[in-house]
Amino acid sequence: MEKISLSEIYGMNVFNDAVMQERLPKKIYVELKNTIKNGTTLSAAVAEVVANAMKDWAIDKGATHYSHWFQPMTGITAEKHEAFLTPDGMGGAIAEFSGKELIKGEADASSFPSGGLRSTFEARGYTAWDCTSPAFLKEDASGLTLCIPTVLCSYTGVALDKKTPLLRSNDALNAQALRILRLFGDTTTKKVITSVGAEQEYFLIDKDMYKKRKDIIFTGRTLFGAMPPKGQELDDHYYGALRERVSCFMHELNRELWKLGIPAKTQHNEVAPCQHELAPIFTDTNTATDNNQLIMETMKKVAPHFNLVCLLHEKPFAGVNGSGKHNNWSMTTDTGKNLLDPGKKPHENKLFLLLLVAVIKAIDIHADLLRVSAANPGNDHRLGAQEAPPAIISIFLGAQLEDILNQIEAGHLSNSIQGSEMSIGASVLPFLKKDVTDRNRTSPFAFTGNKFEFRMVGSSDSIACPNYIINTMVADTLCEFADRLEKAEDFDAEVMALIQETIKAHKRVVFNGNGYSEEWVEEAARRGLPNIKSMLEAIPAIRTEKAIAMFEKHGVLTRAECEARAEILYEEYAKQIIIEGKTMVDVAMKQISPAALGYSQKVAQTVLSLKAAGVKYDSAAALLQSLTETQNELDVAVAKMSQALQVVKGMEDLEEAATYCRNTIFPLMSEIRTPADRLEFLVEKKDWPFPTYGDLLYYID
Ligand code: ADP
Ligand code: MG
Repeated sequence: MEKISLSEIYGMNVFNDAVMQERLPKKIYVELKNTIKNGTTLSAAVAEVVANAMKDWAIDKGATHYSHWFQPMTGITAEKHEAFLTPDGMGGAIAEFSGKELIKGEADASSFPSGGLRSTFEARGYTAWDCTSPAFLKEDASGLTLCIPTVLCSYTGVALDKKTPLLRSNDALNAQALRILRLFGDTTTKKVITSVGAEQEYFLIDKDMYKKRKDIIFTGRTLFGAMPPKGQELDDHYYGALRERVSCFMHELNRELWKLGIPAKTQHNEVAPCQHELAPIFTDTNTATDNNQLIMETMKKVAPHFNLVCLLHEKPFAGVNGSGKHNNWSMTTDTGKNLLDPGKKPHENKLFLLLLVAVIKAIDIHADLLRVSAANPGNDHRLGAQEAPPAIISIFLGAQLEDILNQIEAGHLSNSIQGSEMSIGASVLPFLKKDVTDRNRTSPFAFTGNKFEFRMVGSSDSIACPNYIINTMVADTLCEFADRLEKAEDFDAEVMALIQETIKAHKRVVFNGNGYSEEWVEEAARRGLPNIKSMLEAIPAIRTEKAIAMFEKHGVLTRAECEARAEILYEEYAKQIIIEGKTMVDVAMKQISPAALGYSQKVAQTVLSLKAAGVKYDSAAALLQSLTETQNELDVAVAKMSQALQVVKGMEDLEEAATYCRNTIFPLMSEIRTPADRLEFLVEKKDWPFPTYGDLLYYID
């Protein structure tokens, strides 16, 4: 295995601060930094110089092309490559890249989902440079391409992507958080940013087996498969020793990510067999979002080098845990202070307490929006299934903060519970300093010391949407708080009154118990907390009057942009379920039925031979009977599915189609799977047409 020198490779493919300092004239560098840090407008003259420097750097590294890299509403990234090439008029060509080309690109937007925001005749879309996320070189066997992070908007300036609302929400949060800081006498902070560290779960399976599973190829998950004798019940995979093929994969993955300046830090085996996790060190939300897209992309790219395939689907296998993404979120000042750090005596930290209750209020009021931010067809299989947070949004605060909030509510705030030392019992072991509170793994939104961890996000999703929703709703509450506090005569008294009122009004969303329990589902219903079980039920939240008013007030999304996002979600849901339904029909008809029939024929021959020999043939006949009956059951279910797929084909309204998918096609998928999985059990292993769960989950290196 090739040795890695971290300091040599880290960031080598990034047009980062060090490269800018080295390659840009001082004055230009200062202006660009000012735009990156403070959001000042970039002049055309500066862009020209930056473009040139970027091009020279990329070409020195061996790049021949550049691409505006953007994040359409499909949730994945898109790129269109252009060569650094301009004819010189004398039969040759020179490498050129202008400021104009850096700042603005044109993309035919008609093939990206727009949710009706753009009529088909208005195909023009623009990509615009986001200088706050660094440009980078994408490397593969064919060479290097300079990728410039951009937003995508329509001819009329409407956001057609996931990055634009995120950038707008950063501005909104900054504006409102600064108002609060000023009220607390902070005159030095220039900017408040949000930081995110996204832990990424994924599966790795053998590529040869993958190629034989049409369901995984077409849908990202298994649609068939009986449980093997062993699942995850022994808890022997979580944090288990890494298998060599997997650790070689991680080694190369880290190397590629480090080259891109992505601080991949933690890696381990997860709960399910073949499941793993990677966590980078947190960074600003915009960069973290771009980085997470690159992490997912790089995982997929590197896996085949080890004859593996990386599955990012939320539920690749029924019966074992699926994958999610933990979105760790905090607010930080440009001076480096984490505003969600409670300090040693949180009860004396009024600013922290105010920000804390602002988050609590925001989550309580907009629980439905937070829920939709984690909605995708794959996540429907995870949320509420005892492996991931329930579909009910609640907040875990831990013993210390809950105690403080109780004190405030009761009107006498005097102390903070402190962490203690812990003895492990053996004299040779050191005393450990205990954290003030234990962890809670079952909460969808947990305070974990100095940040909130939103644990519902699906593993394949972009984190842009959860974060622009969290940023906006927190900005909205801070705005309300600032409006009130700016008018206060006695500021300190008003702050305490506000904190107390907010706790009283919104404490129903705080829950420190077991989120996986049935009692919590009942208790949450008593508290009036929404329990939004599926993506279909979650979608309307993005276009309620409440949500639209908030997004419009803070300039994050317009009414039309909200409506469009709902349409796109309906479309995404319907399309995914239809593809799954079609795949099931295909696999059942072309692979499972022929295999079962072939095997039935063998068994029928056996019955006849046994009969002819004059011996008992009861068990062979019983097997044949089961095979035939199960086959019939499968045929009936497949016929129903084929008919349902015809019905949905005729539906133009996306919401109607999605509803039909949820209520009719989705249940039919189980109707097909049950007899098919029984057939897998009945048919001899060597006659089964594709690798089973046992093969996929327990492949030998
Ligand atoms: P877990 O115990 O949840 O598995 P990890 O240590 O694997 O935690 O991941 C925690 C993530 O939270 C990391 O990505 C880490 O960088 C990130 N993180 C730590 N502090 C902050 C912070 N202040 N804001 C945002 N993210 C943070
Ligand atoms: Mg976590």
